[in-house]
Amino acid sequence: MPELPEVETVRLGLNELILGKKIASIEVLSEKSMRSARSDVDAFAVGAVVKDIDRRGKLLILHLDNNYSILVHLRMTGQMVYVDQSTRFGAGHPNDSLIHSLPDSSTRIICTFDDGATLYFNDQRKFGYWMVVPTSQISEDAFVAKLGPEPLLPEFTASVFSERLNRRKGTNIKAAILDQTVLAGVGNIYADEALFSAKIHPSTLVANVAEEQREELHEAIVDVMNLSIQHGGSSDKNYVNAEGKRGSYLTFAQVFRREGQACVVCGDTIQKIRVAGRGTHICPTCQQLSIKRRTQK
Ligand SMILES: [Zn+2]
Repeated sequence: MPELPEVETVRLGLNELILGKKIASIEVLSEKSMRSARSDVDAFAVGAVVKDIDRRGKLLILHLDNNYSILVHLRMTGQMVYVDQSTRFGAGHPNDSLIHSLPDSSTRIICTFDDGATLYFNDQRKFGYWMVVPTSQISEDAFVAKLGPEPLLPEFTASVFSERLNRRKGTNIKAAILDQTVLAGVGNIYADEALFSAKIHPSTLVANVAEEQREELHEAIVDVMNLSIQHGGSSDKNYVNAEGKRGSYLTFAQVFRREGQACVVCGDTIQKIRVAGRGTHICPTCQQLSIKRRTQK
């Protein structure tokens, strides 16, 4: 599932490739993948020039030069692949469509620019979608309006993080950091990695996570996301199509999908448990559940 670092990788890559390009056509192969009416797509996206590319959490935003924007939700399996005569760039969900010839059976939208370059939106499971909206309405979008702070911006300090966590005192720490209203963009992989790095058991109640642990977790979240972006998320450049290998973003994982293997810190065996309804990877020695309990009411 594309997480914030993968979406940021898409943004950084497309920023180099499609700014200033004029959209010549948008072909929608799956109705479900385009939430805007055909007439709106033709009126407000086709013929417009891509001016800027932004991101809010895991939402990618292509700003056009006519005060409209295209929102791109990659969700479970979305990916963007750019192809022109000399360049190919793809990022998002790591599967073979990143490197195979396109369109393929997962292609849902084909956006062609007036210089012949093509941007493919592939989405096997069809949970993702594009939407053309007036730029001024983005902040009112139900999804965007509720998003918490961006973890990669300087405004996201340890004290802001701690305040946001206090809104979810009664829940466990993993559910809290996965909550997009607490902070934007943390998904399952980075939640597990950050909690391991900060030595916090994911089932710990937020109320029982001490201030210094919150500071460590804050640092861990920022570090693990930056590390993944440096690795290029799961772009096709380092995508390896062999024996189930995925994009390089998993090669630095210390606990995620490492159940049964030795902890890199203490040598104990990594376990897979269930927390917040999600498969969760922990080292039972490094991440001990706090014995401190709140008084039962
Ligand atoms: Zn360990």
